[in-house]
Amino acid sequence: MKQCDLLVVGGGIVGLTLAREWLLRHPGSTVSVLEKEPNSVSHGTGRNSGVVHSGIYYQEHSLRARLCVAGSQDMLAYVEEKGIWTDRCGKLLIPPTESALPSVDVLLERGAANGVPIELIDGQTAQMLEPRVNTQFDCALYIPVTSVVDNKAVAQAVVDDVRGLGGLIHYNTQVTQMHGTDGRVETPQGIFSAGYIINAAGLFADQVARNAGLEMRYSFQPFKGKYWMHCDPSFRMQRLVYPIPDLNLPFLGVHTAHNAKGQVFFGPSSTPVIGRENYQGLDGIAWSDGMALSANLVWKLMRNTNGLRTLAWREAKLLRRAGVCAEISRLIHGVKATDLQTSLAKVGIRSQIFDPKAQHLVNDFVILRDRRCVHILNAISPAFTASFAFSRHVLDHYLDE
Ligand SMILES: Cc1cc2nc3c(=O)[nH]c(=O)nc-3n(C[C@H](O)[C@H](O)[C@H](O)COP(=O)(O)OP(=O)(O)OC[C@H]3O[C@@H](n4cnc5c(N)ncnc54)[C@H](O)[C@@H]3O)c2cc1C
Repeated sequence: MKQCDLLVVGGGIVGLTLAREWLLRHPGSTVSVLEKEPNSVSHGTGRNSGVVHSGIYYQEHSLRARLCVAGSQDMLAYVEEKGIWTDRCGKLLIPPTESALPSVDVLLERGAANGVPIELIDGQTAQMLEPRVNTQFDCALYIPVTSVVDNKAVAQAVVDDVRGLGGLIHYNTQVTQMHGTDGRVETPQGIFSAGYIINAAGLFADQVARNAGLEMRYSFQPFKGKYWMHCDPSFRMQRLVYPIPDLNLPFLGVHTAHNAKGQVFFGPSSTPVIGRENYQGLDGIAWSDGMALSANLVWKLMRNTNGLRTLAWREAKLLRRAGVCAEISRLIHGVKATDLQTSLAKVGIRSQIFDPKAQHLVNDFVILRDRRCVHILNAISPAFTASFAFSRHVLDHYLDE
């Protein structure tokens, strides 16, 4: 049996920053991160838009608001310190339809309440900032602090930090059983035991938590996020352009995203799926889990719970390139359906949980402590942005040190 002070299940950005923060606070202690994949970027951490969000979307006092605002400053300081690519390009939020206009005021208020610099500007000013932008409603929100970073490079830098501080990261090591009472986990590579265990297993966090004996009311509802790439390498964007989103759903809507090479992507979609790692075709659908997820999904679609049937209908339009093009054209001009190519590499799935009691998709991070285990559930966007602040919050409030 291998023993350590802290065991982290899941080596994505949340697990890694938790391990790093613990080691910074407890030099010389022993930490092991167990990750089922051969690297840290196979799932959410490596498949997101790389956007460092400002925190305007989230309700005042929510965990997402507080940790996003603090975490974005940490993230930008970290990439600067490590020399990681970043583009401090700012973001424009455009109302895609007339019905989105009331949300402009709500976001202005939320931005102000969360302490985020945000400006309401007219169409002409928006076009000066990004000439491609569609200004049909002659207004936009501008958030200068929003940035893009190289998300995979961030994860690699945190891996190096954890190792440099003496932590061990065991790749290809899947936790198959977790015993919450005595702090033991089983893997095909052997048994690990620890003073504390943190479950940061992303898309499997709810399963791992139940396996550890946690009783909770939440169910799981994965949503796939597909991206489309602009085929013309000379097509460039100066700013990020997002729609004013439906504030009733935890999704930001199809937006522009660009990377260090300047390639421009559009996405992600928000399609309900029945496999936690169902990135392509029928891959990543486990038989029994898939049956349970399908039954839950059919029931929600029938009842249009949380507007899911409406969302699914909207998503169906994205099955055709013309539909994707129509969605993008509400935000920017000059994109044709023939410019778009589905990105096979860039597709992610959200670790979204559902609250059957409230009949609602959970709209905030959820952290639950049970005996020696801390479970991180619903590590949805902006958990990448928030990760450094998130790890401080978990250690401050959930682990008796
Ligand atoms: C399409 C999309 C776009 C997004 N865009 C943004 C963005 O622009 N900005 C932002 O801030 N956030 C964004 N997010 C959210 C962000 O990517 C996630 O919140 C973040 O990556 C969560 O990190 P994580 O470590 O919890 O998850 P992951 O990166 O998924 O890590 C969890 C790890 O646990 C491992 N694991 C699971 N089960 C086990 C087991 N039994 N044993 C061992 N290991 C296990 C998995 O292999 C995985 O590597 C986006 C998400 C998606 C899906």
